[in-house]
Amino acid sequence: MHIETFPVGPLGCNCSIVLDPQSKDAIVVDPGGDFDDIQRRLQKAGAKVVAIVHTHTHIDHVGATAPLQEWSGAPAKIHEADRFLYDMLPVQAALVGTDQPETCDLEGSLVDDHVLSAGALSMHVLHTPGHTPGSCCFVAKLGSSQIAFAGDTLFRRSIGRTDLWGGDSELLLKSIKKRLYSLDESIQVITGHGPSTTIGEERRANPFVRLK
Ligand SMILES: [Zn+2]
Ligand SMILES: [Zn+2]
Repeated sequence: MHIETFPVGPLGCNCSIVLDPQSKDAIVVDPGGDFDDIQRRLQKAGAKVVAIVHTHTHIDHVGATAPLQEWSGAPAKIHEADRFLYDMLPVQAALVGTDQPETCDLEGSLVDDHVLSAGALSMHVLHTPGHTPGSCCFVAKLGSSQIAFAGDTLFRRSIGRTDLWGGDSELLLKSIKKRLYSLDESIQVITGHGPSTTIGEERRANPFVRLK
């Protein structure tokens, strides 16, 4: 599995290209900004985008979705419970102090426990509400390698904020404990911002949510 993760946009959202090296089919996770950079990396990898997925629908994670969708023709997917956030992008833009990005049609087709595929790689959808009502984490798998994408649900030694629209701290803790901490502890976790971590490290050392 070929994974390329890089920060995009003014808030440094981690965008990832997840690619099956054999077929070159790829899934893009959280194209939050800097479309030109994302496009250049996809072209360099010879990637064929088959899906665009979002860990949630905050503006810093969907800022370049429309141009990427238009260029690649791939379906752009969110969890339906986050649609209201896309409908209020102007409000989000005002809060962050940026211009309102171009918008496109989003499929509300990310459903808990569904599996997306790109060539030989699979991507398991985990609905993990808390940071937003439609927050999702993804676990990509190819052969014996696995990697998780946690969005703004779990960070290295931290957790996502819950003071924005539809945030719920109790639900967030429940999502992390039930859905993320139950994964194999060796799995690397790409977070929504900043450095990556592993499930085991956070289970042991995350000061906000630990299993006793
Ligand atoms: Zn967020
Ligand atoms: Zn974010």
